[in-house]
Amino acid sequence: MPELPEVETVRRGLNTVVGRRIVSATVGRDRVVRRTSAQTLIDGVTGVEITAVQRRGKYLVIHTTGDQRVMIHLRMSGQVLITAADSAPPAHTHVRMTLDDRREIRFVDPRTFGEVVAYRVRDEPEVVPELIRLGPDPLVDGIATKYVVAAFAGRRRRLKDALLDQSVIAGIGNIYGDEICHAARISPLRPVGSVNRRGVVRLTDAIHRVLADAVAAGGSTLGDAQYVGVDGAAGTFQNHHRVYGRTGLRCRTCGRGLIRRTVVSQRSTHHCPVCQR
Ligand SMILES: [Zn+2]
Repeated sequence: MPELPEVETVRRGLNTVVGRRIVSATVGRDRVVRRTSAQTLIDGVTGVEITAVQRRGKYLVIHTTGDQRVMIHLRMSGQVLITAADSAPPAHTHVRMTLDDRREIRFVDPRTFGEVVAYRVRDEPEVVPELIRLGPDPLVDGIATKYVVAAFAGRRRRLKDALLDQSVIAGIGNIYGDEICHAARISPLRPVGSVNRRGVVRLTDAIHRVLADAVAAGGSTLGDAQYVGVDGAAGTFQNHHRVYGRTGLRCRTCGRGLIRRTVVSQRSTHHCPVCQR
């Protein structure tokens, strides 16, 4: 599933449509617009100019000159592509927004868990309530050590669980949760209340460093997933994973441990038992 670095890569790609006007829109599969309706999206975006594209956690929000915004969530297999409007759309193209420069924004999603939601700004709390519940975003807001110390104090939940909780920190999912714990040299299985202040400093450093490196690499594209940037290019950060998907292989950091896979809250979790405590 695309996480912060992948969604940020898409956001940066969408910067090239800022200032363009959407001349028409079509919806092919109602499941993608299930939260409102196809007509709501078409009416909301037709004729408006795109003024900004923001990201919060794994959510993209397109701002326009109209009274509507458009939230896009890629979920498992969603893609946002920018193509020539007259090129043949790939299979599973569910939304097309044609621009005034003969390009088109396309939302493609084989599994259709993803969503494209148009909503009036004042209706945001009702239509997309999860946006308000998101914790700070590491890239947009930064994560302060003090904040994490307070969030972890006295809590028994495991570190991996806490990192995946979007209301604590927005944007981290299964891949980067594992990579961040490894970079911080802390076991993802540790109860968060047992991580001391020095550990939290290492963790907040690792959050910023791992996510920045992954954004610089255009995110991670795995063999079984469909994530690509707006130009269709795959990311390359999967070549730098140190624990995720490396079960049984020797740790690239300490050279001694064998990467162990466990299950935390039904999510596969990878760590090195030697250099992560
Ligand atoms: Zn190790």
